[in-house]
Amino acid sequence: MTRRLVGIQVGAVSFVDEGISAVLDNVAAAAVNTLFLATPTWNRATGGRAEPGGAAPGHGVAEYDADWVGGHAATMHPEYYGGTMLGAVGRAPEHPDFDMLGEVIPAAQARGMQSYVLMDESSHARALRSYPNFLKCLEVDIWNKPARRPCFSNPDYRNWHLSIIEDMIKSYELDGLMWSSERISPFDRLIQGPTRQGLGLITCYCAHCKARGAERGLDWRRAQEGYRKLVTWNAEIARGEIPNDGAFVSFWRLLMTYPELLGWQALWIDGQHQMYRDIFGTVRAFRPEMQVGWNITQNIVCSPFYRAGQTFADLSHIADFLKISTYSGAAGPRFHTWVAGIARTLFGDAEPALVYPLMLKMLGIEEGSYDLLPQTGFSSDSVRREVRRSLLGSEGRCVIYAGIDVDIPVGAAEAAGRLEPPPGDNALINADATAGADLVRTTPERVKADILAAFEGGAAGVVLGEKYAQMRLENLAGAGAAMAALGSN
Ligand SMILES: [Zn+2]
Repeated sequence: MTRRLVGIQVGAVSFVDEGISAVLDNVAAAAVNTLFLATPTWNRATGGRAEPGGAAPGHGVAEYDADWVGGHAATMHPEYYGGTMLGAVGRAPEHPDFDMLGEVIPAAQARGMQSYVLMDESSHARALRSYPNFLKCLEVDIWNKPARRPCFSNPDYRNWHLSIIEDMIKSYELDGLMWSSERISPFDRLIQGPTRQGLGLITCYCAHCKARGAERGLDWRRAQEGYRKLVTWNAEIARGEIPNDGAFVSFWRLLMTYPELLGWQALWIDGQHQMYRDIFGTVRAFRPEMQVGWNITQNIVCSPFYRAGQTFADLSHIADFLKISTYSGAAGPRFHTWVAGIARTLFGDAEPALVYPLMLKMLGIEEGSYDLLPQTGFSSDSVRREVRRSLLGSEGRCVIYAGIDVDIPVGAAEAAGRLEPPPGDNALINADATAGADLVRTTPERVKADILAAFEGGAAGVVLGEKYAQMRLENLAGAGAAMAALGSN
């Protein structure tokens, strides 16, 4: 049989802090055969050292890099950046001379390991705003002013990503590429939780999106009007001012009055997926042997609404693999938070404890008590179920990799001593203050059980996440134990 892929997400700082061969020794001991090298990234989930308050990993440099910026950790070639006013991607200022792709790929090859690149869109990152002309690529919000994030349909922004990709695939012997965009659509944002901080993200009405809407016969003014009303609806329910007919009935009435709400939702998601298509075609045209796939954010496990927008039967035409962020441990606090959020918006007529069992049924999930979810996490069987569902959904056109949780930080950002909240404000935070103490922690046994469950579900591989820098070696050993039990690799 073909070799099972055992991947690990790893950022440049780990190679700089620990040395390339030490990192490769550590991951090889955990049966890893594929590196997912995070570059470029401006997102702490994939770059930088372990966060304070989380599990001390016992390797690397113990000092927290509070001023971490991120960027590209490879040599940039300016000739590939035509057609984008954003210009060339900038080197990460933390280690300006370290070419991770140039130095790690040959070392990995010498050990029989594959190297994939993990590109993290990082659209929220402050550092990106310093790029010349970045502010001209922003989405436009429901008040017709530039919003907080760049627009997928903006040609300069699209070409910028394609330029970085052309640069990397022509300059390095990569075996694969995984692109990650964990952005949640404006519609999902408004129905799944209070979104006071997210108002600059209710988009997009730029000239490109208006034209795309017109192609579909959608009236952008009607869409805008509907979204403004949905924002008011969201704010009122979050304040506890439930409309006379209830939260859900008033929502459904808005949908009937403004069917453009759903039309514009589909348009936004399609803009994100057009990036997938562009990237897939670009890589195929030059390096047809390279594997291309997408990181699917954990919202796929939590939200029936997000899930409905990610049709694997369609995505499987433009992917060699889908990496599903099943992350069983973190799923507990995250789903707990998600249910609490939607019980303050779309399902504001009910308490979280009532919403929870309905969501389990809608999502095909079987887990324990809502109150204990932050402490118990999801079962390892959740990984098997999600892999199985994804495999059936993609109809055999691509393979499924399961994201395995190894020491992903959970808990409210402040409590964990983190300096910044995770991106996406109301979208998916790791847990809110209501989650209580003694939150779920990774153990070697959980890592092993999750991996065995993934392969039982039909996964072609697993990817240990979110980043090596925060993984404890004893927990990483759970991966080696799982692969030994399977007797392969
Ligand atoms: Zn736009």
